[in-house]
Amino acid sequence: MPQILTSRFLFGPGPSNCYPEAMAALSWPVLGHLDPVFIERLDRVCEGLRTVWGTSNARTLPLSATGSGGMEAAFVNTVSDGDVAVIAVNGLFGARMCEVARRCGATVVRVDHEWGQPVDADRVLSAHPHPKVIAAVHAETSVGVQSDIAALGAGKGDALLITDAVTSIGGLELLADDWGIDVGYAGTQKCLGVPPGLSPFTVSDRAFERRVKDPRSWYLEIGLLGGYVGAASGSRTYHHTAPVTMIAGLEAALDRILAEGLDVVQARHRAAGTALQEGLQEMGLELFAAEGARLPSLTTVKVPDGVNSAAVRAYLLEHFSMEIGAGVGEYTDTVWRIGMMGPNANSASVTLVLGALKEAMA
Ligand code: PLP
Repeated sequence: MPQILTSRFLFGPGPSNCYPEAMAALSWPVLGHLDPVFIERLDRVCEGLRTVWGTSNARTLPLSATGSGGMEAAFVNTVSDGDVAVIAVNGLFGARMCEVARRCGATVVRVDHEWGQPVDADRVLSAHPHPKVIAAVHAETSVGVQSDIAALGAGKGDALLITDAVTSIGGLELLADDWGIDVGYAGTQKCLGVPPGLSPFTVSDRAFERRVKDPRSWYLEIGLLGGYVGAASGSRTYHHTAPVTMIAGLEAALDRILAEGLDVVQARHRAAGTALQEGLQEMGLELFAAEGARLPSLTTVKVPDGVNSAAVRAYLLEHFSMEIGAGVGEYTDTVWRIGMMGPNANSASVTLVLGALKEAMA
């Protein structure tokens, strides 16, 4: 028998602990991917995803991939050789976008920001006169910063707007249609409270019309994927074997979130993030992300001088079975990342994390 690991408090940058409803659904019977019960389930999931994305896009689906797969799908379908992609970089995932876009053949105009600061829409919008796409991360998990996507949408002109909502979907306000998002991708393992493995994905009609017609990826081609969820014609065609069990988990989590109320869930994330940030500051710690742009779902805090970051994280794991994240890149040893996502976004989690951290640093 393989050893069954004790459960963890997952207060890192994701995966987070999952909604119990999602975990229960993972043990439901496996269905054929063309079974009418599964097809109904997929339709319900696509509808639920439209709600959490804030969109009426027909092409809204759970991509069989993690968030990075969603990122690949966003770029491979919108840019090819020589197309200009203006990409805002204020952390690791904006930088990853640049690399993905480059591999799709794009000429990348990278607009760097100081890590910890939100994206400056004016700088991004004036970086090139006629980009094919403009891209930014809504919630930069690597730095704990939230950016104003609506400002990019308002000024995008003829460009398509790509947005990464991996750490915002299901926990923060996200209004894809109102903000002018043309292609959005996300992940299930953060505020949606589902294990990693699916990428909620949405494509506007405008982006679909201007898509790359013969993209280098077959698996991630949105024309074929539209057929998979029956978006184009109302008829479904086989594309790949759907991850039926993961989709059951996502259905259960979406049901749970929508039953609680999306605005109530968002308020719960805001309250938990704010309480954590206040509590950390009351402990004398300094937050990393710029004031006014701090993510509720992921808080970045500076490791105090003289405190060994890795030793504190190891203590939390050993004594509290609790995970928090290290910083990224040059901030690996000097920043902690603490997530309040999905079912973890509540005041009990805040009390637990603050108490445990106090003990670990003592
Ligand atoms: N974008 C952001 C903002 C993320 O936080 C992550 C993962 O943490 C990704 C993209 C990549 O997603 P995945 O690790 O699921 O491939």
